[in-house]
Amino acid sequence: MKLPLIVGNWKMNLSAKEATELACKIREFANKNSYAKVVLAPSFTLLQGVGQVLAGSGVGLASQNFFCQEKGAYTGEVSAGMIKETGCEYVIVGHSERRQLFGETDELVNKKALCAIQNNITAIICVGETAEQRTAGKTFEVIEQQVRKALVGVENQDLEKIVIAYEPIWAIGTGENATVDQANEVHCLIRKIVAEKNSGNKNGSLSILYGGSVTPDNCKELLRDPEINGALVGGASLKINSFCDIIRSADNK
Ligand code: PEP
Repeated sequence: MKLPLIVGNWKMNLSAKEATELACKIREFANKNSYAKVVLAPSFTLLQGVGQVLAGSGVGLASQNFFCQEKGAYTGEVSAGMIKETGCEYVIVGHSERRQLFGETDELVNKKALCAIQNNITAIICVGETAEQRTAGKTFEVIEQQVRKALVGVENQDLEKIVIAYEPIWAIGTGENATVDQANEVHCLIRKIVAEKNSGNKNGSLSILYGGSVTPDNCKELLRDPEINGALVGGASLKINSFCDIIRSADNK
């Protein structure tokens, strides 16, 4: 049985000092128990320092982004090799903020996913619909397109390097989380699409996370659902108490 995966996405927050202090506390908490596999995603400049804090512990390191070229004239970008050097074993790909604010397309998300796999880094691929799309009854259509496009060229044996995070955009940072039923039906859809596309996932081993206003108050119920294999946590991962409460709540999975 795989442990649930709890990923803290710190986004563009925390100074170097704040980040290493928080990482130390999370490492201490996570190493004392095995409720979940915990992964922290600090910003680029914090990866090195947080990577040193987490080295040798059970807590993983993720980059929030990278660029899918090995090296060269890509001003402002960071390669898979560079994030690996800091200790990253995971990378978040296609977060809705990258899609909406920085124009990342499904095609780029796919290139990044393939590049992560090639570099032996687990890609946490984010998908999710807007409020308008949900209201228009297009949630399944949108998710299906995002998942299919993200996984073009991903072979059965690559699936162990893929995690999908369902993050409805209307739930990110809004305080309005998806209900368990809403998350469950999208997670089932994602699992079905991946099983159809990659017969190697027939046993359902793909980890599918829920993200969007996860808090200590709602995480127990969400994580209890068998289709929800963990959480991608933004705001609540920046405070030691709330993040530890969320990790602890994975215990009843
Ligand atoms: C996120 O940005 O991935 C996220 C889920 O944010 P929040 O938990 O703050 O909604």
